[in-house]
Amino acid sequence: MPEDFELPKVLNAKKDKNFSKWFHQILYLANIIDQRYDVKGCFVWLDYGYKIMLSIKRVWDRLFQKNGYREMYFPLLVPIHYCAQNDKWWAGFKNEAFWVKGGPEGKENYILRPTGEPAMYPMFKLWIRSYTDLPLKVYETVSSFRYETKHTIPLIRDREITVWHEMHTCHATKEEADRELKLQMAMWDKLWKECALWPLKVWKPKWECFPGAVGAVEYYSVMPDGRAMENGSCNNLGQAYAKKFDIKFRDRDGKEKYVWMTCTGNGARLLIAMIAMHGDNRGLVLPPNLAPIQLVIVPIYYKTNKNVVLTFARKIEKMLSRKFRVHLDDRPDKTPGSKFYDWELRGVPIRLEIGPRDVKEKQVIAVLRDTGDKIPLKLKNLKRDITGLLNSMQKRLLEKAKTFVQNSIEDVYELAKLKGLVQRKKIARVFWCGDGQCWDKIKAQEPGIELFGTDLKPAKKAGQCIACGKKTRTIGYVANTY
Ligand SMILES: [Zn+2]
Repeated sequence: MPEDFELPKVLNAKKDKNFSKWFHQILYLANIIDQRYDVKGCFVWLDYGYKIMLSIKRVWDRLFQKNGYREMYFPLLVPIHYCAQNDKWWAGFKNEAFWVKGGPEGKENYILRPTGEPAMYPMFKLWIRSYTDLPLKVYETVSSFRYETKHTIPLIRDREITVWHEMHTCHATKEEADRELKLQMAMWDKLWKECALWPLKVWKPKWECFPGAVGAVEYYSVMPDGRAMENGSCNNLGQAYAKKFDIKFRDRDGKEKYVWMTCTGNGARLLIAMIAMHGDNRGLVLPPNLAPIQLVIVPIYYKTNKNVVLTFARKIEKMLSRKFRVHLDDRPDKTPGSKFYDWELRGVPIRLEIGPRDVKEKQVIAVLRDTGDKIPLKLKNLKRDITGLLNSMQKRLLEKAKTFVQNSIEDVYELAKLKGLVQRKKIARVFWCGDGQCWDKIKAQEPGIELFGTDLKPAKKAGQCIACGKKTRTIGYVANTY
């Protein structure tokens, strides 16, 4: 829990003025998490937040299983001798790991899983014998643990990384592994669309990839404060890990060969990006495809017509619940106004208001969460009309996210103009020759900024490296990152 954290009672922080305060308020008030749990970097998922997270998980389960990934579960405890098989990996993770000893007298023989590799790959070695065992495509959704020493931010930088989804694959050839990486990207793209989010996709700088890996594509979210947040990656591991963990197969030609591997993963950062991109000063705005409640019915009545309105509202609820995720808010002790407030805070896409006049007119009033538009809908075509409204809202939110990302990018051609990037809330697009010294020069222009990746496609026309002037077609992205 941040030291200056006060339990909020109402959402009063403004998103564009104080994003961080707004973010902390909304996480609690919208029932996403409670961060008062007394372990640094850990929090409690509350019911509503967990429901949204699980609706994201359902999409990745469907996508990855359809494409041949098998869901498994590997133990949380990882023996040190598994980790040590990849000495480079171990050198990097040793100090970030939670060490566990068995009992008060025991020695520290285990760590808590910081990533899946050291638990999975020794088992892959046992399972793979021949080319007929390939491809092997496995995934798990678990918690991972890192001993973060830096300032933690709930759901962005945690010590327990919850609902972490990671996939690992083994293939007979490099070509097959390359193809798998493209397939993974296509699946992530679909998931991002369901979240109504637009990614900035980049190649990760070589020196930040896993040692010995071929390369990695990283997904980034542009946040409302102008910072870039890493939000998933697809890693082409080549044969580096196969050699460390001795994962071999007998090929058709009778020869023993190392497998080619990929891995990819992401988790709650998708939810964070969704909250940050679409939320407003009244609360969350959830994309209809993932909202746990798509429609909330709020009856508006006086004592004299209570029964008529409620009966009509229940009829509407029954009629719609076969096709949509509907909730009828019939709490007797709450005013319609306070109900509006609650459901706006929780980002329910459409509110259906029903008053005595609507009963007579055989209609409901639909209020759209993102635009505030009020639209009367006749019962006759209600399901069709609501489907239309939800679909167009999903599209509108995606379009909004796309425009936001595109407008956040600024072409910069002189080093000095990288100054003030953070204040301008912009991401700079620059030409970069690929040289480490030039990378350092870019980083030195403003505290906190870095070139976090390069465009997946080289520029059609070459330009001059922003730092040294050398001709190049590589485009880099520079920002303050989370
Ligand atoms: Zn250069």
